[in-house]
Amino acid sequence: MSEERRKGSIQLHAGSARVDVRTEDVYFAFPDGHLDYDCQSCGATCCRGHGYLVQIGRELNAQLRAHPASRMFMVDASDRGPRAFQMKNCPPGCFFLQEDLRCRIHAEHGYGAKPETCRLFPFNHVRRVGSTLIVRPHPSLCPLAVTPPGTRSERSSHAELLASFAQFGLAAIVPQAYPRRADVDALLAVERAIVAGADDALGLDRYLPYAASQLTIGRAGAATTPLPDALAELEQHLVCMGRLLGALPGMESLGDRVAIRSLVAATPTIRAALLFPDAPATGNPTPKEIDFDQVARMLSGLSVLVAFAHEAGMERVTYQTVLRIFTDHAPLLLLLAMADRSVAWRDDVSIELQFDGPAPAKRRYVEIARALLPAVQAERRAPLHDVINANAFEDPFENLMFVRRFARAAAGKLTTMESSASRESKFSIRRISERWALRYAPVDVLAQLASRRGANAGSDAAEGHEKSAT
Ligand code: SF4
Ligand code: SF4
Repeated sequence: MSEERRKGSIQLHAGSARVDVRTEDVYFAFPDGHLDYDCQSCGATCCRGHGYLVQIGRELNAQLRAHPASRMFMVDASDRGPRAFQMKNCPPGCFFLQEDLRCRIHAEHGYGAKPETCRLFPFNHVRRVGSTLIVRPHPSLCPLAVTPPGTRSERSSHAELLASFAQFGLAAIVPQAYPRRADVDALLAVERAIVAGADDALGLDRYLPYAASQLTIGRAGAATTPLPDALAELEQHLVCMGRLLGALPGMESLGDRVAIRSLVAATPTIRAALLFPDAPATGNPTPKEIDFDQVARMLSGLSVLVAFAHEAGMERVTYQTVLRIFTDHAPLLLLLAMADRSVAWRDDVSIELQFDGPAPAKRRYVEIARALLPAVQAERRAPLHDVINANAFEDPFENLMFVRRFARAAAGKLTTMESSASRESKFSIRRISERWALRYAPVDVLAQLASRRGANAGSDAAEGHEKSAT
């Protein structure tokens, strides 16, 4: 490997081919130098019970040479690529975890000898999009801390990570991600501008201006200060979210600096998860387009839930807290993103009649489903929070539980009236008759039909907890 190539590019595997990625084509979806971790105080969580991949070749040979008996605990991992085995660990931790919580491979043979998964960790969620590499932290295992104001950590320095990537390359096969916008270059330019804006946003005493700058950058395609109307728009959106949820957190919780720093630091990671998802296990790998407004509004909704976490008693909201709240509440955040919008069912989806919950909830669901028919909304143009609140339960807790269930039933099926007007939909007899029945059949009959239990009771699973799962 020439010295020039090592400095300027990263060698990796894409399928069976070897590819060189230029270092300037790496996108780190987290702020530069503002995440830190401490393996001693963590107790080496990632070295306990999670295993790691061992790549055939230099990595496998080095491990077998140094620790021949470890071959007994390696299992086939061909589902993760044809060139890998998985080292299965046993409680209480990895074979190479010393009493002092240091890695014996690292201690005896140096950093470069560590298994690749461990060397990259926690920045080991790596995906390819065209000629670009997108790097995210592991979603859950590592207790990442946002650096205190005015300080930096070399552990998450983009330059340091790039140097390490370029020096060692990536032996594992790097899977592809599927961007949710057609113009990938423009998409990446927006995301890079948002990461650049995180440095200043870490000092804010409210999250909303950062969400407004995301809205502005997404619309303008350039890093500028937030347009005043973007901030005003999100202030209004906040009020409507409060109506939908039945309450808003207090100003003290919305202004908690620790929570805001964690939110800002997690923002590029969450945006990357939304905008560059992995291919689904089954079905069409091309995900639906997503607009930048929706992403910024989901994050604004997330700031509300995070403030509620603080208000509920959580003294220190961390980067991990933010990611967990995001994964656990994704359908609700999708709904909150549209709280102030006039929305209707997408033309290209089937409207589920089945709705989990007691009879009054089924009836309300039918009323709301009817009110959100495109033909009905074309005349009324009612904002979503009005449509839902017109059918609200009197008890605020019961109502919140209903809103959550409705969010799961409607996830990915609603669209704004403006987008539905510009969308061409395919003719379908089934969807036409479904909508006709929903509009004209008696509500009692429809509510009876909504009685099959469990149709949309699924929980929102958190992302993988395995060290090398990402
Ligand atoms: S989980 Fe993070 S802090 Fe803990 S041992 Fe692993 S890398 Fe270190
Ligand atoms: S090999 Fe990996 S999992 Fe095992 S102790 Fe070293 S760093 Fe931890």
